[in-house]
Amino acid sequence: MNQAELESYRNTLLDLRGRLTDGINRLAEVVLADERPAGEHDQLTSEPIDKEIFLDHAEEAIRRKVIEALRRIDAGSYGQCEECNQEIAKERLEAMPYAASCIECERKKEREARPRR
Ligand SMILES: [Zn+2]
Repeated sequence: MNQAELESYRNTLLDLRGRLTDGINRLAEVVLADERPAGEHDQLTSEPIDKEIFLDHAEEAIRRKVIEALRRIDAGSYGQCEECNQEIAKERLEAMPYAASCIECERKKEREARPRR
């Protein structure tokens, strides 16, 4: 990856970080407005998801990934999979500039995170 590409990813990540911080309240409103009437959850799950907590976690998790990606740019390891050290595919970085692992390792982790079925 050359310097110009790195700078372009850095700008994308900085922009993303700003939007994550500014957008959290607006995003929370949108999701909370989608609240279903009580009772409808019962068919899907006995424990309705607490959307506010869920959102905080999702937001915080992505923000942390963005910050880590910015650190990797400074450390010179950006674009490398943290699991297998292979280069992360450019299409993946373009879709998800804060990706810390390649698609293969990500899929493996997802499978491990969901032991049910
Ligand atoms: Zn990997």
